[in-house]
Amino acid sequence: MPLTSLADGNADAFDVVVLGRFRQFVQCVAWTTLAAGLLGLFGWLLRSPSLAALFIGLQPIRATAAMGFIIAAVALFAVRKDVPAARRVGIACGLVLIALGVLSLADDFGYVDFGINQWRLAATDGEVSARMPPITAASFVLLGARALTHCCQPDHKIGDGIALLLLALSMISLAALGVTVARGAESIASPATPVAAVLLFVNALAWIASRPTTPLCAVAARRGFGGVLARRLLLPALLLPLLYSWLMQWARNSLGLDDALVIAMGAFFTGASVAALVWYVARLIERVDQQHQAMRDLSNIALTDTLTQLPNRRAFDLLLTRLLDGRREQDRAFCLLMLDLDRFKDYNDRYGHLAGDEILRRVGALLHANLRPGDHAARYGGEEFAVLLPETPMSAATQIAERIRAAFTTARWPHRSVTVSIGVAAARAEDHAQTLIERADAALYSAKGKGRNRVVNAPMSVAD
Ligand code: GH3
Ligand code: MG
Ligand code: MG
Repeated sequence: MPLTSLADGNADAFDVVVLGRFRQFVQCVAWTTLAAGLLGLFGWLLRSPSLAALFIGLQPIRATAAMGFIIAAVALFAVRKDVPAARRVGIACGLVLIALGVLSLADDFGYVDFGINQWRLAATDGEVSARMPPITAASFVLLGARALTHCCQPDHKIGDGIALLLLALSMISLAALGVTVARGAESIASPATPVAAVLLFVNALAWIASRPTTPLCAVAARRGFGGVLARRLLLPALLLPLLYSWLMQWARNSLGLDDALVIAMGAFFTGASVAALVWYVARLIERVDQQHQAMRDLSNIALTDTLTQLPNRRAFDLLLTRLLDGRREQDRAFCLLMLDLDRFKDYNDRYGHLAGDEILRRVGALLHANLRPGDHAARYGGEEFAVLLPETPMSAATQIAERIRAAFTTARWPHRSVTVSIGVAAARAEDHAQTLIERADAALYSAKGKGRNRVVNAPMSVAD
C-alpha cells in the first residue's frame, strides 16, 4: 500500500463557500426579478413605455409578463427556506405561474379572449398589447412546473429536467433576440425585451442553484477539480455560441458581409473558442497533476523515517487503525511484531552514535528484505521497530519473526554482531491500538527477560 493512500482527503465533499455563493445568487436573482417585474408593471399602470421597457428595452415588458416575474420572484424567495409554510407558498406560486402561462398561450392562439389585447400601451413604434409573447408564456409554465417539483417532488431528476428545458428555452429567447435586433423582424421565439430574456435565463440558473445537491448542480458545487472546472467553464460554454450568433447576424446586416464570409468567421470563432477551452482545461489538469505530485511528495516525507527510510510512527498508527477496522468489520486476522535491538545503548557507547545510526539504517534494509510485499515494517521509535502482518495467523507470524531474528544473527554487522528480541501478538476483534501494542510489548519484554535474541508470543486469548 503506498504511503500517500494513507493520507487521502475527501474530494467529493461540497464546497461550503460555493454553496453560500449559490444561495446568494438565488437571492440576488429573486430580488432582481422582483424589481424588474414591479418596474414593468408600474410602467404599464403609469402608461410609461420607457419604464415598462426598463429604460433599455426595444419594446416594453408586457403587463402579464411583469406579473409573471413578480410571482416567479416570490416563488424563489419562498423555496430558499425548507419549511412547510415556504413550501406551500412555492406550490401556490407554481400553480399561478402555470395558470398564467397556459391562459396566456390559450389567448395567444385564439382559444379564449381575456381582453388583455385591449389593454394597450402607446410605444414609439405603435401600440403594444399587455399579452406576453408565447415563448415567455411557455417559460412561465416551465418556471411554475419547476417550483412545483421543487416543493412536492423528492425525485430531483424531473425538476432538473424541467430546469434544463427552461434553460434551453431562455437561450432560444436570447438567440432569437439577436436575430430580431439584427434584422428588425420578430419571430415566434422573439421575447418581449432583452431584460425578459436575460431574466428567464438567470431564473433557470437560479432554480438549478437552489438545489445544489442534485446531480445537475452537484458537479459545480463540489470541492474537487471537477467543481472548479464546471464553475469556470459551464457559463462561457453556454453563452459563447450565443454571442457569436449575435455577432454573425450583426456582421451580416450592419457591415454587409456576405454569407460565405460570415459562415467562415463563425467556423473560425467557434473552433478557436473550443480550442481555447480545451487548452485551458489541459493547463488546469497539468497544474492539478503537479499539485498532486507535490502533495504525494510531502505526505511521503511526513510518513517516512529519514534514517531508515521505513514508514515512521505516524504511518504505523494510520496502518494499524486500518487493519484494526478490517479486523472488527470483516474479521480479517493480522499480527503485530514489536522488535527491540539488544544492548544497543552499549553499542552506541562503544562505537559512537553515528555507528549506531548505521546499524539502524541496515536494520531498515534487513526488515525490508525479509518481509513479504504486503507486510509493513515501521520505525516505532529509537531502536524499536514494529511489523504489521496482514492476513496472517499467529503460527505464520511466529515463523516470520523467527526468520527475522535468524537474519539478524547471520547478517554481517560492523564491529560486532547485533541481535534482536521480538514480541508477537495476534489482533483480537475487541482490540484497540493500545491493547494490541501493550500485548506485543509485554511479549517483547518477556523475551528480554528470558535472555534476549529470541521470539515470544503473547497469549492468544484473554484466558491464556
Ligand atoms: P535492551 O537489550 O534492554 O533493549 O538494551 P538497550 O541498551 O537496547 O536498551 P534500550 O532499548 O533502552 O536502549 C535504547 C538505546 O537506543 C538508547 C539510545 O542510545 C539508542 N538510540 C535510540 N535512538 C537512536 C538513534 O536514532 N540513533 C542511535 N545511534 N541510537 C539510538
Ligand atoms: Mg528500546
Ligand atoms: Mg534495546
